[in-house]
Amino acid sequence: MSNLDTAPQETVCDGRAAAPGPVHELLTGREVVLGGTRAMAVSRTLPNRDRRMVGAWCFLDYYGPEDLTSRPGMRVPPHPHTGLQTVSWLFAGEVLHRDSLGNTQLIRPGQLNLMTAGHAISHAEQTPVRHSPTLHGVQLWTALADRYRHGEPHFEHHPQLPVRAGNGTRTTVFLGGPSPARTYSRLVGAEVALDAGADDRLPLEPDFEHAVLAVSGDVSVDGVALSPGPLLYLGTGRRDLAVTADRPARLLLLGGEPFEEQLVMWWNFVGRDHDEIVADREEWMGGTRFGTVHGFDGDPLPAPAMPTTRLKPRGRVR
Ligand code: MN
Repeated sequence: MSNLDTAPQETVCDGRAAAPGPVHELLTGREVVLGGTRAMAVSRTLPNRDRRMVGAWCFLDYYGPEDLTSRPGMRVPPHPHTGLQTVSWLFAGEVLHRDSLGNTQLIRPGQLNLMTAGHAISHAEQTPVRHSPTLHGVQLWTALADRYRHGEPHFEHHPQLPVRAGNGTRTTVFLGGPSPARTYSRLVGAEVALDAGADDRLPLEPDFEHAVLAVSGDVSVDGVALSPGPLLYLGTGRRDLAVTADRPARLLLLGGEPFEEQLVMWWNFVGRDHDEIVADREEWMGGTRFGTVHGFDGDPLPAPAMPTTRLKPRGRVR
């Protein structure tokens, strides 16, 4: 998916430093409408005004469950990316991905589409013509560390991922840990399905910061009641995380080593300074670096105008 804002604000991915220990912070998302009329609304909890990253995770759009019997679903025209990985993960439905490397790949729930932009890639994502009645998922980005962000773009599809069974839980790790997907910093991304009466402790890396999003149902996370909506930031210093549910529920767990580099995020680019973003934008509008996405029925997405002020890279600490 893309940031489709026509007037995107500068997003400085610094936020506060990682909390020095366990905390509970409820981070409220904002509703963003992707595309024009009859478009899909998403809840964007990262970047957040109060805390802009969790490890290398710097973007989290949650969408659905969307009834596709009366609405068209996802339609994101070709657009560029730099300096990040896009992570597409579904709880229901299908999304069709096409990119400038020539990949065409449908994903379904439990499958991972991972696109590493490196210095340049472009892609389109849409609901396929034949599709399920419901679409429900998340679109995530991870920021690439400076030493990796100028690398070649690549795309991976993982149809099956490792599952850890716990006491009433099944954790599918799509990124980090036992996942075969390629990562560029120590992090974790997982879906946790909870049965009625689930009572488990999920193992965590103590030097990671973590956050949890309820996807469906009501869960208790370290004693905090959580329902779909806000992102619960949990800080660092945890060896495990207590989760319980009275009825079936599902949650998303994100974590990672606190990301120490200064970033500038603007539109679909993750860079390090203003001039680099300007060059990326001009390249998308008139150059060849981002390649061409074939097979999408429609025009590529034009880049918005740059803001009138210079974008400023900043550190993680204010
Ligand atoms: Mn995208």
